[in-house]
Amino acid sequence: MFHFDFTFPSILILLIFLYFFLSEPRLPVRKNRLFFLLVLVELLVLLFDILSSNADMNYQDLPIWLTAVLNMAYFVFFLARILLYFFYTLNILRRFPDVRSPAMLLYSSVFFLSELLVLSSFWTGAVFLIDQNGYHRGPFYNIIYVCFFFYLLLSFLFIFLERKKLSRRDQISIIGCNVILLCGYIVRMLMPQYLVLNVFYLMALLVIFISFENPAVYTTSYGSFSFPALREYLEERVEKGDFRVLGFALRNYSDAREIYGIKQMEQGIRLICSYIKKTYPSLPFFYLRSGCFALVGPEKMDVRKLADDISARFHRPWVADETELYLNAVFLQMSSTAGSLDADQVVESLALSLFDIGQRDVTGDGLLDLDLSTLLRHEIAVKRALDHAVETGSVDVFLQPIMDAQTGAVIGAEALARLRGDQGSLIFPNDFIGLAEKNGQIIRLGEQVLEKVCRFFSEHDRRQLQWVNVNLSPIQCMNPELRTRFVDILSRYRVPPPFIHLEITEASMIDYTVLTEQMNELRNRGFCFVLDDYGSGYSNLSRLQRLPFTGIKLDMEIVRAHCKDPNPVLPTLVRVFRERGLSITAEGIETDAVAEEMTAIGCDYLQGYLFSRPVPMDEFRQKYL
Ligand code: C2E
Ligand code: MG
Ligand code: MG
Repeated sequence: MFHFDFTFPSILILLIFLYFFLSEPRLPVRKNRLFFLLVLVELLVLLFDILSSNADMNYQDLPIWLTAVLNMAYFVFFLARILLYFFYTLNILRRFPDVRSPAMLLYSSVFFLSELLVLSSFWTGAVFLIDQNGYHRGPFYNIIYVCFFFYLLLSFLFIFLERKKLSRRDQISIIGCNVILLCGYIVRMLMPQYLVLNVFYLMALLVIFISFENPAVYTTSYGSFSFPALREYLEERVEKGDFRVLGFALRNYSDAREIYGIKQMEQGIRLICSYIKKTYPSLPFFYLRSGCFALVGPEKMDVRKLADDISARFHRPWVADETELYLNAVFLQMSSTAGSLDADQVVESLALSLFDIGQRDVTGDGLLDLDLSTLLRHEIAVKRALDHAVETGSVDVFLQPIMDAQTGAVIGAEALARLRGDQGSLIFPNDFIGLAEKNGQIIRLGEQVLEKVCRFFSEHDRRQLQWVNVNLSPIQCMNPELRTRFVDILSRYRVPPPFIHLEITEASMIDYTVLTEQMNELRNRGFCFVLDDYGSGYSNLSRLQRLPFTGIKLDMEIVRAHCKDPNPVLPTLVRVFRERGLSITAEGIETDAVAEEMTAIGCDYLQGYLFSRPVPMDEFRQKYL
């Protein structure tokens, strides 16, 4: 006697899965194909479970062959199901083997052997037997459990081996899924008459759906695929080495957002997405973020024509909520021949470059070729070096001496951050400070620099120097914890605050109120402030005067401009600053003539390659301390 209480609700739930799977656009990737097969096979198992169990109970009324065929179909799908789960697990672990590889043969062997026994049962009665007395288990019935435990053990083995590839959440999901199946089989072995194993399979499906198939992750509200979807899709395409990407970015996206308003722009993006999807239904289409899009096709795809066509559409406005949006797009392409990069690198560089070209003033409707092998390799290397330095606290600090203009003696120094690339090459701040500011790493990086400076000067005789300049980024200035962290670091190394001069640029004056408060606090604790790169931007003198600076550093551009074409502007400025009690440093001094001129107009300190380039701390100690 079989109990069907669990099977009918299970079928209904499966149909819901199927509906949602088919109604949403799905990426053509292996993971989704496997999931679809899982749902389908699960449905078939349920169907034949009901049919065969009924036939087994009513065998007298049915021809023997029919009962046998129904049982056979049930066992066939029953075995296929566990193989599919195993493959799904392998795929999540990025270990799915090539179809013609020996690994594939090995993995499938147990499945095929079991299926062979099932199919032969019609004549041999190996797994089951139907005769005048109905259904009996055959001598090889337990092969279905052997098959299950074989794949389950393999799954756990691979999960263990590849655990580092997965996030904690994904680990829990995939382990959970397999544990649920294990419980299901134990229950089935104990109570075979309850058709309850299917419920466990359903639970496992649910875990998979939520963790790995969630449409909210892979689609956007604009109707395109999302950024994580692009990563996944490219992972398979990169493996096959056959793809071409056409990316495009809305020119000056953030300005456009300000002009048209957020709502209108969102509407605009929705219109662009639906236009592309309708015009190129066979090409997976992705919206990354901030006005950046990507279409992916095969290597032979004619991107030039595609770019021209899409560009032509941008010559007409996008009409959203009674507003006409006039948008411009810049295009770039990238292909699988670009080099041996992995999917992460491809996606990352694509996103970075798209974002970048959208902001830059690239003219015309040209199609930029993304040469990954050089430019972006560098960008990726920088990002890697930055992550590493921040994680391990291994940023390098160089010191550049600052000279007293009158005596020519070293009087101070500026601390400048450096990173080390893969081969130990130096990476300069202009390459990584911007990135560190964007992702917030600048906070930890800045603290590291200060800490290294303090440690160095607490271990060596610093009497030679009056102060050391440390650069502060605008992001650090906005950080409310800055004061306590900096005071902490100094007291840990017993460095008196007046020894540290913090250099900030005009870019820090985003929020004047916060900055004033921050500066006053730190001033009260003894730190000094120097305005860096004076003359490189539009200076708001009245604002500057109200901030508690003790010194000004003239940018090398303004220094050079003056020396090339001397006029009274700079000398007057210097005089005014000095009258207000500010010290003046001239940066970028490369020749004696410039040094003399700067001294003559009243600069107190000089810094530049003429005296020394920034050098590693040890070298600085040997030379100057
Ligand atoms: P900055 O603060 O204006 O630093 C001066 C830059 O000019 C340094 O470049 C220095 O090597 C360079 N320099 C010095 N003398 C000469 C010269 O005679 N000729 C020329 N052509 N260049 C000279 P560097 O080290 O590449 O730093 C660039 C910028 O990166 C710095 O400009 C500073 O704004 C930023 N930076 C460096 N280290 C840090 C840091 O630890 N934290 C933060 N937030 N920013 C940093
Ligand atoms: Mg500086
Ligand atoms: Mg400077």
